[in-house]
Amino acid sequence: MISSYQVMQGDPLSCVILHVPHSSRIIPGEVRANIVIDDAEIESELNEMTDTKTDQLAFIAQRQSTLKPWIFMNTLSRLVIDPERFPDEREVMNSVGMGAVYTRTSRGNLLRQEPFTGTNILIDTYFTPYSDAFTELVTSRLDALGRVTIIDVHSYRTLQHPNSINHDQERPEICIGTDSFHTPENLIQSAQEACTAVGRTELNQPYAGTYIPLKFYGVDPRVQSIMMEIRADTFVDENLELSDSHTHVAHALVSLVNLV
Ligand SMILES: [Zn+2]
Repeated sequence: MISSYQVMQGDPLSCVILHVPHSSRIIPGEVRANIVIDDAEIESELNEMTDTKTDQLAFIAQRQSTLKPWIFMNTLSRLVIDPERFPDEREVMNSVGMGAVYTRTSRGNLLRQEPFTGTNILIDTYFTPYSDAFTELVTSRLDALGRVTIIDVHSYRTLQHPNSINHDQERPEICIGTDSFHTPENLIQSAQEACTAVGRTELNQPYAGTYIPLKFYGVDPRVQSIMMEIRADTFVDENLELSDSHTHVAHALVSLVNLV
């Protein structure tokens, strides 16, 4: 069994966890078997949906920050499970077949047979161990330091996916996702300040919210979280390779880590 996550240790005194949920393209064979599109279509869907090179941004931030942050990475593609979605009826993306286990592609085509009968197996095999391990890391940081700040690192495409729920919104260089309970005002200000060299920031447009493990969600204010949705063209080129400007984006992340 392939583990669905990896923890890269940070400084024992760091309360920052960089979460990288969408950078991998890996789909285990038994999961691929239940995906109905062909290999070429999977490649193009992965090009569209993967937050390509966000892991590299996190690695640079880990190396260059004053106090080394922790990294929690999804080692598998979001086409396996999407750890950022609610695994139940609370998830608004269920309506377009893109809940915790997708049945539709970013273009709205069939990805898995509907209704998909393997959802519970994927949740048990990949989603639950992932969120349990994340909960454990947050708990250990809370025990050590009494507070945790999760920086949820994503990228998004310049053009809107056809199969989405957030049409006609702003698409700034940096979209900062917040939660009314877990994102304090000073954390938002730090993120805005850190990003000035990259470009314009917007709050919760075109993507809203940020990752908090469900155990702490809405109940433990010691767990702070902010999402950085970085527009992909600010740091990767048309071949999805890091462009020269990626250093500005990585530096913004380093600045934010240092300000927390
Ligand atoms: Zn993402």
